[in-house]
Amino acid sequence: MYDPSNVFAKILRGEIPCKPVLDTEYALAFHDINPQAPIHVLVIPKGSYVSWDDFSQRATPAEIAGFVRAVGETARTLGVEADGYRVLSNVGTQAGQEVPHLHVHIFAGRPLGPMLAKRD
Ligand code: AMP
Repeated sequence: MYDPSNVFAKILRGEIPCKPVLDTEYALAFHDINPQAPIHVLVIPKGSYVSWDDFSQRATPAEIAGFVRAVGETARTLGVEADGYRVLSNVGTQAGQEVPHLHVHIFAGRPLGPMLAKRD
């Protein structure tokens, strides 16, 4: 169930500020408040979707196309496509998803290391 009080819903409603990178009919991209790479940007759909799982089941083809294109367009707007970047989306508890509105992280600006941290 989607919780409209989550922080990204508040950003979409303009109730709290963000540093935008791209704003389209279907998606908003903005800088992460706690960056974990020199470039760390979040891309979120404008519709009310909890996660990638929710979005992939309920979103319309236009919303899906608009969101996927916005992720690529955000990377090009940031100028990171030549050197490369990482796209990541945490889904649910085991992935550590903190904000229950679908978001894709774009990391760039340095070599990003292994895909996952090694287990102890
Ligand atoms: P996740 O752990 O995948 O749910 O990622 C949530 C991300 O949202 C984290 O990287 C946070 O730093 C980021 N975040 C939380 N609140 C804000 C905010 N108000 N503006 C920008 N980024 C935020």
